[in-house]
Parts: sequence; C-alpha cells; structure tokens
Amino acid sequence: MQTIDTFNFAGKKAFVRVDFNVPLDENFKITDDTRIRAAIPTLKKILKDGGSVIIGSHLGRPKGPADKYSLKHILPRVSELLGVDVQFASDCIGDKTESKAAALHPGEALLLENLRFYAEEEGKPRLPEDASEEETTAAKKAVKESQKEFTKKLASYADVYVNDAFGTAHRAHASTALIADYFDAGHKLFGYLMQNEINAVEKVMSDTERPFTAIMGGSKVSTKIDLIKNLLDKVDNLILAGGMTYTFAKADGGKIGDSIVEDDKLDLAKEIVALAKEKGVNLVLATDAKLADSFSNDAKTAFGSVKEIPDGWEGLDIGPESEKIFAEVIKNSKTILWNGPVGVFEFDNFDKGSRAVADAIVEATKNGAFSLIGGGDSVACINKFGLADDVSYVSTGGGALLEMIEGKVLPGIKAIRGY
Ligand code: AMP
Repeated sequence: MQTIDTFNFAGKKAFVRVDFNVPLDENFKITDDTRIRAAIPTLKKILKDGGSVIIGSHLGRPKGPADKYSLKHILPRVSELLGVDVQFASDCIGDKTESKAAALHPGEALLLENLRFYAEEEGKPRLPEDASEEETTAAKKAVKESQKEFTKKLASYADVYVNDAFGTAHRAHASTALIADYFDAGHKLFGYLMQNEINAVEKVMSDTERPFTAIMGGSKVSTKIDLIKNLLDKVDNLILAGGMTYTFAKADGGKIGDSIVEDDKLDLAKEIVALAKEKGVNLVLATDAKLADSFSNDAKTAFGSVKEIPDGWEGLDIGPESEKIFAEVIKNSKTILWNGPVGVFEFDNFDKGSRAVADAIVEATKNGAFSLIGGGDSVACINKFGLADDVSYVSTGGGALLEMIEGKVLPGIKAIRGY
C-alpha cells in the first residue's frame, strides 16, 4: 500500500479530505484552529513534492448552502498556516470548480466550499419533518442515485485521493469513503494525521504491551456500554469512574444521595461486574467521592464513601482514597487508554481527581508506557491541565476513535486499505 511518505506527488493533483470543522465565533473568527493545524503536514508534503491539492471539508451541519457554514471564513487561516495563497471555489462541484481544479499548477492549493451544502455528501435526503413515508423512501433512493454522480465529480478533479479526516472516518460519506472507489490501490492513501491515529489505536488495541489499563469516565454508563464490553476482552484493568460510579454503587446496594444515576441500568452494572470477573479483568471502581450540596463549583463540599451519600449531596469527583488506588494501577501499566473525566472537571473545585489520573498517566508514560487519550471531554481535560505533550498520543477523533475502540471497522479506513 502507498503511504503519504512513499508516494511522489510531483505533477499530480491530490483530492485531500480534511476535517476543517472548526468552531467559529459570531464574527466567524476561528476560536480553535487545532483541526486545521492537524492536516497541514499532509498538505505541505504534497505541495513540497510538486503536487497540487484540492481540499475538501465539511463545516457544521448545514441543511443546504448557508453563509454561516461557508468555508470562505477559514480561508485566510488555511493560507497562513499552509504558507501559500489558497484559492477558493464557491461551490464544491460545477463547471467553474472543475476549471479551477484543472488549472492548478504544482505547488498550488484550492479549497472547495462546504461539501455538506449538498445532501449527496452524507447521502441522506433533507426532507420536511412532516414528509410521508413514501416521500421519504423516494427521496432516499433519489439521493443515493445522485450521490454517485456527486462522488464521481469530486474524484474527477484528482489523480490521487488522500484521506486525512480522522474525525469523519466513521462515516460512509461521498468524500470520506465512497470516492475511494474511483482510485486504484496505488492512488489512494492516508494522510499523516489518519495514519498516526490508526497507529495509536492499533498499538493500544492489537499490539498491546501488558498490563493494559483503560480508564473510562464521563457521565453515563449507557453511552459507553459497547466500549466497555469490547474493552473487557482486551484489558487487564478497567477503571470505571465519573458519573457512572453511582449507578454501580446503587446496583451494589449503596446509598448515593442525589448523585447522577441511571436507574434503568442497575442490571447492566451488575452484568459488567460479573463479566469482568468471568474474564479475569481487574475492575476498579471509586470507593470515595468529593461530595457537593449542589451541582455547582461553589457548592459546599465534603468527602465520603460512594455508598453512603446523604440525601441533598452528590458525588462530583473521586476522593483521595480513589485517587491513590487509580494512580497505583495506572503507574504499573504499560498501555493506557483514557476516555472521559473522572469528575466534573469543568468545575475547578472538582477537577482534582481527573488531574490525579492525568498525572499518573504522565508518570507511567515517562516510565515507558504508551498512553492514548481520546474521545471528547478527556481531550479538553488533558488540555486544561496543559499535559497534552506529556502523554503518548491525544486523538483528534471523538466518535471515530470510540468506534475503533469498540472494534468496528471504519468506512473511511476500509475504503483505503480494504479492512
Ligand atoms: P461523557 O460525554 O459521557 O464522556 O461525559 C463527560 C461529562 O461527564 C463531563 O462533562 C463531566 O463533567 C461529566 N461528569 C463526570 N463525572 C461526573 C459526576 N460525578 N457527576 C456528573 N457529571 C459528571
């Protein structure tokens, strides 16, 4: 298989799918350009080889063309970071865009307008809410048909397809997966970001050095169940923390006061405990909590057992005893996966547990462990502590990363390497 390093882009046009879905403020200023920065090495490599790039991305969730979601807002920043004047096509398909793409010289770049201005990108019809079943069925069929033409058009601009949009790799969209069919095996490849993400997940999930510890936090067990079940087949230690602590504590007969709980998941919690036992996994739950008398940073606080919480109080972070237990397990690990804060880290008074977990991961990493942090809030958490550079890898993909850890094959990855 070709890689971004082995492929010589000289004289070639590359269609590069990136994830430039960056947050914008009300004046369309980018508030966090991490996602643009993440794709720059791939784009630079192609230009440096003497190739040209046609850059495709989505931005937000438009229901059709809308100025608010136009990629023109980010064009200056892309040019600045790439170090070339990037051209803009105000439509991602059409004759004008085709001519612009055809006229690109080596070293030049063209940014296409938001791919999701077309329903064909996602292959889902945009119907009024009151559409009948027949209308819906007919529209679904129609958009799947027109999606082929749309995809073919995008593919026609380029000699080679490069996917560097890990954030959308779990979607079988026109530009993230279907387009790959129009290129032979030697002309489709992953960009650096995609390759790094895949390498990091595979190092954790398949090429695992033991002991392997996963720390799952967050608010609910229900949203993490597939993850937890797949991890039970892989890990030596599974630390379950955050809001789901109280569902487990209640299932075990504990008194949890006003803590967050999923009453319909008590049996599931018991099932997970039994499964862990059956599979020989060391399941580690918090024993103590930092309690609050309201869901607020300024709440009155106290420490106590997770199973003896008085009414009117709720657990918003782990306590010192759990910090020690978690840290001990983490420091003795050779592979670490962290998804989800162990407390309400957004409140400064309840971020100490997550900080203790982060510190233990940093220490283990210094001692040779491989640590992968990913999936939404844990990234915000490690960034809050300024420790992102002290762990092995911080993933840029939320849903995509989680689906990989669940053991699913991602369409964006399969489209290029076949599995
Ligand atoms: P998730 O999206 O499921 O990963 O959940 C992340 C959220 O879980 C963060 O916003 C945390 O504030 C929240 N969280 C963590 N621990 C708790 C807790 N003990 N009670 C309520 N929310 C929590």
